[in-house]
Amino acid sequence: MTGNRIVAARSAMRERGVDALVVSVGSDLPYLTGYRAMPLERITALVVPESGDALLFVPELEAPRVSTSVEVVPWSETDDPFDRIADALPAAGTIAVGDQMWASFLIAIQDRLPGARFVDAEPLMATLRIIKDANEIAALRDAGHAADTVADQLQGIRFSGRTEQDISRIVTDLLLASGHDSVSFAIVASGPNGASPHHEATGRIIEQGDAIVVDFGGRIRGYGSDTTRMYVVGEPPDGFVAAYRVLEAAQDAAVQSVRPGVTAASIDAAARTIIENAGYGAAFMHRTGHGIGLDAHEQPYIVAGNEMAIETGMAFSIEPGIYLPGRWGMRIEDIVAVTTDGVERLNRSSRSLRVVE
Ligand code: ZN
Ligand code: ZN
Ligand code: ZN
Repeated sequence: MTGNRIVAARSAMRERGVDALVVSVGSDLPYLTGYRAMPLERITALVVPESGDALLFVPELEAPRVSTSVEVVPWSETDDPFDRIADALPAAGTIAVGDQMWASFLIAIQDRLPGARFVDAEPLMATLRIIKDANEIAALRDAGHAADTVADQLQGIRFSGRTEQDISRIVTDLLLASGHDSVSFAIVASGPNGASPHHEATGRIIEQGDAIVVDFGGRIRGYGSDTTRMYVVGEPPDGFVAAYRVLEAAQDAAVQSVRPGVTAASIDAAARTIIENAGYGAAFMHRTGHGIGLDAHEQPYIVAGNEMAIETGMAFSIEPGIYLPGRWGMRIEDIVAVTTDGVERLNRSSRSLRVVE
């Protein structure tokens, strides 16, 4: 599998006039080699020259953890890894660099290759990673369904009298119990804190009448889940239910608009128009969604101005929100996968407002 991906990377390199590709920590490395490196000060780097063998440079002590079809080149504690990596790269020509390589690594490589031109590998890698194969979709589906069980289990839990951090810890435990290999985030934003989309759980004690944004995700076989569901303790605040109906309609309209050939911008517009027409346009200040895969946020971005055509095999979130500072916030988020003739929701749990104690 990863061998084919390196072949595909080479043809994308040729199309773009790139002579060599070098990727380090981040998700390009597991995509191309099956190996996810620890983000350490000791460099791990895959070098893919335009022709000749791809080489994976790894710190010698990490080598026992590496299982890949790519040729592994261990470097020892007394070697200079940057000399060795630079030797495998062209002295002149264009080198595409993975977008998550540490700046200190790139500067060390640039110092050794003053005649080369360095470009961002993200556009090149995105052309490969943006279309998921059946195994990748299956992992995303498993992660989505596991997250759905967490959303449902939360409904049986008492929120009032507990802190946001208490609930966030419960979400973390449930994500692991549901089959996730790791937890990426567990946002719990109660009452006025809900108006901050990426609020970090605090010691605020949840009380009667609070609406709570719960946005969480983890990884299964490397691929992410990311879903948001809304909970309310007892009676919702003034105006909340009416706004929630608007949000549900907006989220559903955006999902229903997804099929091959439409633009990313048109999916954003499907949600945004409904929210704007209801008078909440200024309260929806973020894009409608982001791609998801080995990274929690990746292409395609579902945002106004992005005229990219949606294709079969893409996977992304649909997550409109309405945020009223000082009062409350709300968001509904599902991951969807684009099929040959439409869309598959990878989250199937109820999107209704969930009343809790
Ligand atoms: Zn987010
Ligand atoms: Zn989310
Ligand atoms: Zn998201």
